[in-house]
Formats: sequence, C-alpha cells, structure tokens
Amino acid sequence: MSSVFHRVPDRNLPIAVRGDGMYVIDKDGKRYLDSYAGGACVSCLGHSHTAAIEAVQRQVGKLAYIHGSMFTSEPLETLGDILTTDAPDGLTKVFFVNSGSEAVESALMMARQYFDEIGQPTRRKVIARRSSYHGATLTSIGVGHQMARRAPFEQILPDVLHIAPCYEYRGRRETETAEQYGRRVADELEQAILSLGPETVMAFVAETVTGTTSGAVPPVPGYFKRIREICDRYGVLLLLDEVFCGLGRTGTLHACQQDGIAPDFLTLAKGLAAGYQPIGATLLNTKIYDAIVSGSGVFRGGFTYSGHATACAAAVAVQRTLRSEGFLENVRGLAALLRSGLEDRFGQHPNVGDIRGRGMLMTLELVENRESKTPFPVQNGLSARIYRSAMSRGLIAHALGGTVDGVNGDHVVVCPPLIAAPEDLEAIVTMLGQSIDTALSEIRVTAT
Ligand code: PMP
Repeated sequence: MSSVFHRVPDRNLPIAVRGDGMYVIDKDGKRYLDSYAGGACVSCLGHSHTAAIEAVQRQVGKLAYIHGSMFTSEPLETLGDILTTDAPDGLTKVFFVNSGSEAVESALMMARQYFDEIGQPTRRKVIARRSSYHGATLTSIGVGHQMARRAPFEQILPDVLHIAPCYEYRGRRETETAEQYGRRVADELEQAILSLGPETVMAFVAETVTGTTSGAVPPVPGYFKRIREICDRYGVLLLLDEVFCGLGRTGTLHACQQDGIAPDFLTLAKGLAAGYQPIGATLLNTKIYDAIVSGSGVFRGGFTYSGHATACAAAVAVQRTLRSEGFLENVRGLAALLRSGLEDRFGQHPNVGDIRGRGMLMTLELVENRESKTPFPVQNGLSARIYRSAMSRGLIAHALGGTVDGVNGDHVVVCPPLIAAPEDLEAIVTMLGQSIDTALSEIRVTAT
C-alpha cells in the first residue's frame, strides 16, 4: 500500500524507472510508446535527450540554486535572452516561475498591479473562455473552465466571466463560414466587456490552441485578430496561455505567430525545459514592465524557486535544440505525417466525428453518431476504457471526457515528443486505433 496521495488514487500505476527516446520503461521492463509527451505534453525532446541531461548535470555540479533577489546566474540571463530575442512583438521581458499555473497567476497579478500603477485601479475583472484550462491554483482554476476541477472550490474561486470558446466543430452554424463564426464568437468578448463596464476589466485570457479540455481546438482564421482589436479598443490586456501549445508544438515557436498577433502576456511552461526540470515563464510587454518598475519599483509576486539555476540550464539546452537548424521544419514534416496518418486511419471511422489540431497537437473527438454529433453516454466511460486499453498494449495515450460541455463527450489528444521518427507516428496511430476499437467493442458487449 503506497504512502503517497496519488493524483488518481484508484489507478494501479506502473512504476516508471527509465526513459529511452520515445519510450518510458517500467520496473517489469515493459516499454510504453509515448503519444502524449510524458503524459502531459511536456517531454517534447523525449525521455533521454543528451544535451538536456548533460546541462542539468553540469549546472547542478557547479551551483544548483541561489535566490533571485540576491544573485542572478548565467543560465537565468541566457534563458531570458533566448526567450525575448524571438518573442512575439513587444514582449521584451520575462519573469520565471516553476509551473504553468504560476505563469498564469503571475501574469494576472502583474496585470492587476499594472493598472494600479497607471492610475486605473477599478480594472480588476477577468474574462476567459468556457472549455479552457489554465492551471490548478485557485486563481487559475477560476480563470479556467473545467467543471470537475471547479466544483469543490466554486465558492472560493475568483469571479471570472466566461464567454464561448472558438470551437468550430460544435459551434459553427451551417449557414456560417469559418471566418463569420470566428467573428461572432470573438464579438462575445466585446459584449462581455460592455456588460461589465470597460473601466472594470483588466484582462482576457485564452489558450491560443486549446490543450486538454476539449482537446486541441485551433482557432478559426481571423478569430484572434478580432480579439486583439477588441482588447485594444477597450484597453484590456490580452494573456495568451501557451503552456500547452507553445514552443514548437504547433510547428512555429509560438502558436500565436500563425494567428498574426502578439499578446501582452504569453505564458509558457511544459516544453520550456521539456520535463528535464520544472520551470515556467511569463513573457510580458514592455509597457507593463516599465509601469511597474518606474512606479512602485517591484512586482509583488515571485516564488522561492523563480529562476532556479538548474531549471534554467535545462531550459537553455532545450530551447537551443528547438531553435537549432531544421528542427521546426522537421516538426512541420512530422505534423503533416501525423495528420495524414490519423485521417487515413480514422477519417471514415463511424465513431470519430472530428480530427483536428495544429502541428503536432492533434485530437480525435469520439461520437456515437457522426451525423448528429451525439456523444457516447457518460456512463459508458469511453475515455477511461481507451486509456486502459492503450496502457495495457504499451501506449501512453491521453483520452479524456467532458469534451462537449465539461461533462459529455470523449476525445483523445495526440501530442508525441517532437523528436518522433515517422515509424513512431505510424505505430502510435496503429496502437491508438486498436485501443479505441477495443474500448468501443467493450461498450457494445456491455450494452447487449
Ligand atoms: N495552462 C495550460 C494551457 C495548461 O495546459 C496547463 C497544464 N495542463 C497549465 C496552464 C498549468 O500548468 P501546470 O500544471 O504546470 O501548473
């Protein structure tokens, strides 16, 4: 009996002992092919990347940690330079934290402090989107919209107004083009700002490409341009959360590059040190930095481990790799293979309603009926069955419920390490197909 309060206490977890490229190996020697980058879209360089491992070993042997209010360090300064050099326009400063939740939380704290510093103290409210995830601190749970996560804490969550996501498969009307749909849902932001009173709103928060909640939902063309216009019109800061979809995952360094806009805050984590160390970051606009530094002088956030030297050293090695010649081009090639593999295998599948995503971040949305897009009944537990079936055949796969509205629907997110070989992607598609079909046949047996 384990003494650990595990995240999923009733799961019989295998003991992971070693990583080998695209594989995780358990204590019994069973190998698991990784279709979900470490089980959370983290391990973008796989599980045995030499440069990242050596960077950690070197730094920990020199200086593992020193507090950021008393010293800076070489890896911290180098990482800051790397991230700001090719950041979206205007994001000239970066604040380091330890996780995605802390990156979102810190950005919102900076937004709040910024408006005090510039004499707009009534701006306190946040608008975000339904079907989103922004972390597991109380503030980030409140900004996000995952029903199961929110439920026990609802009464102590911050008051956030949630508008519609940009979820074309379920939201676009037959009479609309993708662009018209995007405009309609983006315009909900303007209505929300007006209903709250523009002088009370400080920030709008969105994942550029939604990660887990409804599974890899990319925005339609023009959606974020419209969002940016509306934020600018009402002086609202735009926070794009790329903790999940950022840093090469979508085929460009930042996902929002493909939408032609720059936010005021960009949050990063998972792919930053690719799991070789925990680290997150909040990139921020010059005007926010200047207002705080020339105002009260100090940001009132920050953590003991912000800018941890060893974590920064790992991130430097990972970020240099992502920026090395041909790396992102290769990711784009792999992404095309992954998409066509999924389309070939599942395009005609009677229970796959939508195949969507951007780059190496893809999703299959499962439905009982393709015509009506009706999801499977929740009590079928389809996603849990797919997860079990995948793990038993040695595939790390992420199948989740609540796709449609936080309760109904099932989807599988496919976001393998970016170092995959074409054969790995083929094997992932094959094993995923077997896992889904086994889960579906279990449901049919149960029904008869
Ligand atoms: N934002 C997004 C978009 C995420 O996907 C996640 C993690 N899944 C977070 C924030 C929170 O990151 P962490 O778990 O590192 O706190």
